Amino acid sequence: MKHTGDTALLLSAEDVPPIYEYNEAGRSPFLLTCDHYGRLIPRMLGDLGLPESELVRHIAWDIGIAGVAEALSKHLDAHLIVQRYSRLVIDCNRPPHVASSIPRISEATTIPGNEGISRQAAETRRAQIFDPYHRRIDEIIDQRRIASLPTVLVSLHSFTPVYAGIARPWHIGSLYHRDTHLPPLLLKLLRAEGDLVVGDNEPYAVSDETDYTIPVHGEARGLMNTGIEIRQDLISDPAGENAWADRLARIFGEIETLMRAQQLLSA
Ligand SMILES: [Zn+2]
Repeated sequence: MKHTGDTALLLSAEDVPPIYEYNEAGRSPFLLTCDHYGRLIPRMLGDLGLPESELVRHIAWDIGIAGVAEALSKHLDAHLIVQRYSRLVIDCNRPPHVASSIPRISEATTIPGNEGISRQAAETRRAQIFDPYHRRIDEIIDQRRIASLPTVLVSLHSFTPVYAGIARPWHIGSLYHRDTHLPPLLLKLLRAEGDLVVGDNEPYAVSDETDYTIPVHGEARGLMNTGIEIRQDLISDPAGENAWADRLARIFGEIETLMRAQQLLSA
């Protein structure tokens, strides 16, 4: 397991490291990331002042995506890196300078443990959770380059079917900004499935202010990339998780074949 730096201030011996990796020797060109995989809270932060009923909701993590990500990693033989602490502690897909990095309010819920947080406490969360996760993604991309292994970044997420009272019709969305290769291909294959409502940059679009993983590790490093958002009610049990992992494995297999034919996968 990767070391997390100085653990004296936030993470104690009883807390697990933020990063977990699956299939590190995977040979697939797809590098899978999962920023909102877990909903752990460091022991010293208690429950952030929230009842359990809030800590299991989408505000704390991406419901269902862990099972999809693990199975997809296996099917594709792809390296998967995940972050296990709740996004209510620090959101690993937000630039640390934006207000939603350590949210005082998420959807309509006030987070008492984040109210009035000191600059030092905020920096400690960054130093012990956010930074090690993103440093490790950087290292993985470097190592793949040295090994002449091509890298296509796929950032996996799930979204709540209803947000602030508004229902969302999409089953799955491709989220992107500057990559012109992967998202159109993915959208085309998702639409060809015939039974899906496909979001084209829905329910969100990627931007430099609202995202971190794709702009920093995908775009700035010149990698083809996409975010994937799956609606949470479709992956709320193992059957749903496995069905979506199977489907995405098939689709990404087709994408890999098409990319190789177009010689897009040189390291
Ligand atoms: Zn997410």
